[in-house]
Parts: sequence; C-alpha cells; structure tokens
Amino acid sequence: MQKIIISVKDLVKKYGNFEAVKGISFDVYAGEIFGLLGPNGAGKSTTLEILETLRSKTSGEVTIHGFDLEKHPAEIKQIIGVQLQNSGYYPQLKLIELVEMFAGLYNQKTDALALLKSMQLEDKANSLYKELSGGQQQRFSLAITLINHPKIIFLDEPTTGLDPQARRNLWQLIKRIRDNGTTVIITTHYMDEAEMLCDRVAIIDSGKIISIASPEQMIDELLLSGFEKAKETKRANLEDVFIHLTGKQLREE
Ligand code: ADP
Repeated sequence: MQKIIISVKDLVKKYGNFEAVKGISFDVYAGEIFGLLGPNGAGKSTTLEILETLRSKTSGEVTIHGFDLEKHPAEIKQIIGVQLQNSGYYPQLKLIELVEMFAGLYNQKTDALALLKSMQLEDKANSLYKELSGGQQQRFSLAITLINHPKIIFLDEPTTGLDPQARRNLWQLIKRIRDNGTTVIITTHYMDEAEMLCDRVAIIDSGKIISIASPEQMIDELLLSGFEKAKETKRANLEDVFIHLTGKQLREE
C-alpha cells in the first residue's frame, strides 16, 4: 500500500459562473513524481494554486500530509515548496544572499552554499539572478523550493524554454529530489518529459480528469485498444541526433 500524501475529493473552482475545475478527485502518493498534464485552460494552474494555498476553492476537500486545507493552511505552507516566478527575486542580491534571505523568511537554518552546490550553482554563488542562463535560473528556483526542507514541491513547467541538455540535467536533479524522499507535483506540456520523469500522471481537460495512471500503463492501454501510429516511426528522433552530436554536457557559461 502506498502512503497518500495529497488527497483531493470533488474539487470545484468557479470564477463567477464559469466552472474552471469541475469536481476532480485524485490522490498523490508520498515519494512520487506526479504530473498534471492538459491543454491550456484545462485547469492545471487553478488546481495547483489551490493545493499551494494561494487560491481559494469553491468546494471539495483537500488534505495535504494529514492537514485539511481549509483548517490548516499555515501548517501546509510549512511543508511545501513552491517555485516562484522570476519576478520574485530581488535584482540587486547575489544568489547566496537570496538563499540566505529566503531562509530567514522561512525561519530556517540553511547552509546556503551547500544548497547551491546541490543544484550545481556553487560557481554562481556571487552572481546575480539575471546573469544566469535559463537552465541555471531554473536550477536556482528549484533550490529555493527546497529551503524549508519541504515534504512536497510544486513545479510549474520547470523546463520550458531550455535547451535539450539543460532539460535532461533538470530531469536528473528533479529525480534526485524525489529519490531523497520529497514528493514532486509537476506540470508540463512536454510529453517526453512526463514520460521520462513522472511516476504517474493525471490528464485534465476542460476542468475534468480524464485519465490517471503511470505513463507506461496509459501507453499500453492505448495500444491494447488497437491504436496504431499513422506513420512508422524510426528508432531515433531529431532530439536523439541533437544530443548525439552536441553531447550531454551543459552549455551555459
Ligand atoms: P491551465 O493552467 O490548465 O492552462 P488555468 O487553471 O489557468 O488552466 O485556467 C482554467 C480556466 O479558468 C481557463 O478558462 C481560464 O481562462 C480560467 N481562469 C483562470 N484564472 C481565472 C481568473 N482569475 N478569473 C477568471 N477565469 C480564470
């Protein structure tokens, strides 16, 4: 039996008369990478922000690590890590100072340099956020989510806009965070990323969950239903060529 760390039952969110989330239910298991997939406007961000305690729900029940979202939002805030948008970082502070500032805000004793090192940013400790490459910026925002030693982190499209090397590097780091015991909830529009990274995914469309399973189970089910690709695919794709030619090494200096 897997331990449930997030339980969502009949969650509804209305914006005026418009129902953006239409009574969804799902569980997230402790220690898994759980993907929330779906087209734009499906209700992913709304759902994520409700779980992050940043947005109110219209109805339904949400329990996170045993805490009821309605009664104990403060307790929930303490055990989750949320990736900030870039604008949340003070532009004049160096990375190491930013980590120390956030640690202070969370009232946490944090070895700032060790945290930066765990995200391969020790060489950038004295740089400003705006001086970083896209991959480094994403690694830094990942580091910030870990400051309060959270049980769960929420990542909203963490690899959008990155080159193939930086995406692979981030996948490794996210898997390492999961392997160290943190549950990861992630949204992405990259299906290869979801397939590579997620233990289970929920596909959400027009405010409803239409499937929840592991990527492998979903693919097997589709094939069992008689699905065939329109075109015979080759055993490699252009991304394989790109990585083969340019290597896996990060390019960001
Ligand atoms: P996704 O993250 O899957 O793209 P969202 O949760 O952002 O979807 O949006 C779901 C639906 O709710 C969309 O139709 C969007 O226009 C609508 N919506 C999101 N936020 C608001 C808001 N603050 N007020 C009104 N409608 C909103």
